[in-house]
Amino acid sequence: MTPDGEALFLQAAGQLGLDVAGQLPAFATFQRLLVEVGRHTNLTALLDEPDIILKHFVDSLSCTVGGHLTGELTVLDLGTGAGFPGLPLAIQHPGLQLTLLDATRRKIEFVQQVTAALSLPNATALVGRAETLGRDASHRGRYDRVVTRAVSALPVLAELSLPLLREGGALLAQKGPIQPEELEAGQRVAELLGGELQTVERFTLPVLNDPRSLVVIRKVAATPERYPRREGVPAKHPLS
Ligand code: SAM
Repeated sequence: MTPDGEALFLQAAGQLGLDVAGQLPAFATFQRLLVEVGRHTNLTALLDEPDIILKHFVDSLSCTVGGHLTGELTVLDLGTGAGFPGLPLAIQHPGLQLTLLDATRRKIEFVQQVTAALSLPNATALVGRAETLGRDASHRGRYDRVVTRAVSALPVLAELSLPLLREGGALLAQKGPIQPEELEAGQRVAELLGGELQTVERFTLPVLNDPRSLVVIRKVAATPERYPRREGVPAKHPLS
């Protein structure tokens, strides 16, 4: 990371109330690997330094807006891709125990490369589908939080994530400016699966001022056994 990059990161994270100074070496290693591997493997379209810092690192860390990730929590990152938002959260918050899940093996192999390079003790990467984990007793009902960014519309996310949460746990879905129709549909599906909309944190991404919403859905009752439906069905035929 260049000195300008470090200054940008410190400033932008500072606007979220986060001090990343002690973690700069770890984020710099993550950035270097993302650029090196991303040059020949399709991981993410964003490989310029300011984009990585603002649209990946700071955007991922903005999951903490509203204080829904405070304390010692087990967190599943559903559809982590190249590690977002899960890896920045694991680097910055050692009290979080992250499981980084993605259906694409190549992306999880990259995430494993980063966790090994950083010797990150609080992050485990898994290849698999949320529908499968949601029916596996060692994952169903086990997580305090599910975080997710750029994976699917809210009704689909509700079906994929609520089975994985313990009662009292919460889905934190990172969105741009969420439309009322998506929010209402997500709320309806969440209620079918034992969830209820708790709040939407609305804010802008530091420096870029892009609008962001963090949709918080709390699990208040057990999810019926029939959910999630089999692989691919939640996205193909969303509940309504
Ligand atoms: N969250 C990352 C980010 O914001 O950069 C990656 C976003 S990428 C557009 C969506 C990822 O979700 C893909 O890597 C895809 O493999 C994964 N995905 C989609 N549906 C999934 C499912 N049902 N279970 C696990 N992973 C899934």
